[in-house]
Amino acid sequence: MAVEQTLSIIKPDATRRNITGAINARLEEAGLRIVAQKRIRLGRDQAEAFYDVHKERPFYDSLCEFMTSGPVVVQVLEAENAVALNREVMGATNPADAAPGTIRADLAESLEANSVHGSDSPDNAAREVAFFFSDEEIVG
Ligand code: ATP
Ligand code: MG
Repeated sequence: MAVEQTLSIIKPDATRRNITGAINARLEEAGLRIVAQKRIRLGRDQAEAFYDVHKERPFYDSLCEFMTSGPVVVQVLEAENAVALNREVMGATNPADAAPGTIRADLAESLEANSVHGSDSPDNAAREVAFFFSDEEIVG
């Protein structure tokens, strides 16, 4: 299994509650290396472009509103099998369905305010990493 990168976002509900370090500790304990990271405030255009894949979904407007409601921490995580490993550490989209011990089960507020984003495939990971980071910003 080759070393892989995935795009992670610590969402506004988590920055608001000052638990970005707690989330990073869980990522690192699972063996994910944070090889790039920045705290930013997403603009509406940026949020809409990032979530373009969900444009037709009923929650799209609300999701873009939420993602621009406060700072986020965007990060590139690196590990063998990083995409699937991060999804495992995050837990299911809805915290009510997430396995005990996952970030979303333990820390998320709701289905929308679910504390973290993680790319769902290696192809999407490459696209999402490039959305936020230049090559020089990623230091493995
Ligand atoms: P993410 O893409 O953030 O890693 P995910 O892949 O588990 O999460 P998606 O189906 O891609 O989930 O949905 C993207 C995000 O949209 C979710 O993380 C959540 O914040 C929000 N979302 C998804 N479904 C709903 C819903 N039914 N109602 C409200 N918000 C939702
Ligand atoms: Mg998704």
